[in-house]
Parts: sequence; C-alpha cells; structure tokens
Amino acid sequence: MASIFTKIIKGEIPSYKIAETEKFFAFLDINPNAKGHTLCVPKREVDKITDLDRDSYLGLMDFAIKIGRALEATVRCKRVGMTVIGLEVPHVHVHLIPLNEMKEATFQHKVRLSPAEFEALADKIRAELKKNPL
Ligand code: 5GP
Repeated sequence: MASIFTKIIKGEIPSYKIAETEKFFAFLDINPNAKGHTLCVPKREVDKITDLDRDSYLGLMDFAIKIGRALEATVRCKRVGMTVIGLEVPHVHVHLIPLNEMKEATFQHKVRLSPAEFEALADKIRAELKKNPL
C-alpha cells in the first residue's frame, strides 16, 4: 500500500507544500515540533534512509540543505536542526526543525498552528525559495 507521503506527493492527500524537484518533495509537518518544521522526502517510496543508494541519499541531503537555508531566512530560530527517525511513516523523510530551544528537537514538544497560519508560513518559505531556485 502507498505510504501517506506518497499520497501527499501525488496530491491525493492535501499538504502545505514547500517545494518539489523531479526527485524530491518538501512540505510542512502537520504536527510540528516548532513553527516551520518541514519534511523532505524522496518521491520514490523507500522505507529507511539506510536503504537509499548513494546518489539518492546525497540528492536528498542537497535538497534538504537548500530548504533548510530558506527556513533559516524565514522563521526566527537559532538554527535549523535535521533529524531522521521514520518510526511512524515508513517512507524516508528528513525532519528540518527551526530550533530555539533543545526541547523542540525532542518530539515531545508540539506547537499548534491554524490552517491560515500554516498557509501563510508556507507562502513565506516558498517566496524565500524563489530567490534561490532549487
Ligand atoms: P517519524 O516517522 O519520523 O517518526 O514521524 C513522521 C512525521 O510525519 C511526524 O512528525 C508527523 O507529524 C508527520 N506526519 C504524519 N502524517 C502526516 C500527514 O498526513 N501530513 C503531514 N504533513 N505530516 C504528517
């Protein structure tokens, strides 16, 4: 069965999309640790990061770094943290989390955003990415 992220990539499930390339897709996490928490995924459905071939891994990291720079320019934070877990969704994804405090990296700390806040945030990040296209 297709993963929930494959359904998001195909547009079968809505998301606050940030960017996409031929091979990768970025969207806001629906249950964010902090404002701007973004997921970067390969379009090809692969379970674990350790299953990726070298080119896919490097391509995903390159994509995530560029999204991370746009987050740092958009969201007030000390830096963007990056983590890979995957216990909930078996489709490789890099978490990019704008961090001000360590607790935001713990996945115990969550923030609530309204749909309008999600959309406004996604708009700002997309506008920042237009300055440095992927
Ligand atoms: P992990 O698999 O790394 O443990 O966590 C999966 C992440 O995906 C969680 O942070 C969760 O909030 C996010 N997530 C799960 N389902 C959806 C969804 O349908 N839409 C979005 N945007 N994020 C999701």
